[in-house]
Amino acid sequence: MAVERRRFLKGAALGGAAGVAAAASTFPKPAIAQERRDWRMVTSWPPGLPGVGTGAERLAANITSMSEGRITVTVYGGGELVPALGVFDAVSDGTAQLGHDASYYHISKSEGTAFFTAFPWGFTAGEISAWVRYGGGQELWDELYEPFNLQGFLAGNTGTQMFGWFRNEINSLDDLQGLKFRTPGNQAKILTKLGATVVLLPGGEIFPALQSGTIDGAEWIGPYNDLSFGLYQVCPYYYSPGYHEPGAALQMTVNKSEYEALPQDLKDIVRIAAQEAHEDMLSEYSARSGPALRTLVQEHGVQLRLLSTEILDATKTAAEEILQELRDGDDEMTRRIVDGYGAFLNDISPWTRTGEQAYLNSRYNPFSCITNRSI
Ligand code: CA
Repeated sequence: MAVERRRFLKGAALGGAAGVAAAASTFPKPAIAQERRDWRMVTSWPPGLPGVGTGAERLAANITSMSEGRITVTVYGGGELVPALGVFDAVSDGTAQLGHDASYYHISKSEGTAFFTAFPWGFTAGEISAWVRYGGGQELWDELYEPFNLQGFLAGNTGTQMFGWFRNEINSLDDLQGLKFRTPGNQAKILTKLGATVVLLPGGEIFPALQSGTIDGAEWIGPYNDLSFGLYQVCPYYYSPGYHEPGAALQMTVNKSEYEALPQDLKDIVRIAAQEAHEDMLSEYSARSGPALRTLVQEHGVQLRLLSTEILDATKTAAEEILQELRDGDDEMTRRIVDGYGAFLNDISPWTRTGEQAYLNSRYNPFSCITNRSI
């Protein structure tokens, strides 16, 4: 019934007898129905990886479905069409029309990219969405990506991450000296300042590198994905807090020329599908991470540890130094992003501290009648 109704409306839109003829005969359909686009989405994620990978697939399927196939999206995992960390370039140069990855993989293009994923000791998941949508972040992001022919959208968030996995305990700054560790973005710079040797590997290469001893430790995301990667098999010590990614946002990039060529309704579908993916992915990570953490501890004997005050204080100092270097640097766009980020953090902090932070600090293990406090 719905299909017949749509056909009728398309026919009617042509007007009068011509419309009836088009709907009822083999005459060519109206031009709008013939504008079909086969788009490729390249991602950084191992194919089918729960969370980021399946979230990208869901996003692609939603665009295909909501556009009724006017845009049909095929998804490629990291390395299938282009290298896992080559998503930015592939979408920029039109090899693919869509990308799903993290902006901070690309600080070699601009230091400003990092702020749209996470900055150490910066925004939580709710705060970065607030900044991008209501605090001027999207406008800065658009300006940053314009020279790369990219349109960026928030398209996922992992929530709070974990500091990472280690073979041995990390009690003091001395324990970081010479440690070979996998992490991206500004966290790589922070740990380098503190004496570690840092490499950026795509997710799929972390476990083999740990197994072979190429790296001593690694951070990836949090319990949900880290469990599926099996990182506990090499590293029994699992550290929090993930101050470096307190709410890591993922991005969908669209080749800007392709995006601008879309009619308005398809632009809306692409944009709103990204927003749905963003919300859905954060919900998925929020739902899955607790049970995954319990499995890691109870079934795999993972040892949870909190970073020492000595290490946390040193990372704050290093993060502040990096921000200052970016503000003093030559890149005017990055300076403006840093300033915009800082202004919004200043605006939102009074409420975060007074509202959510005060609540969470007070909530510790409520409702013992219906919960199990084993972990
Ligand atoms: Ca991470």
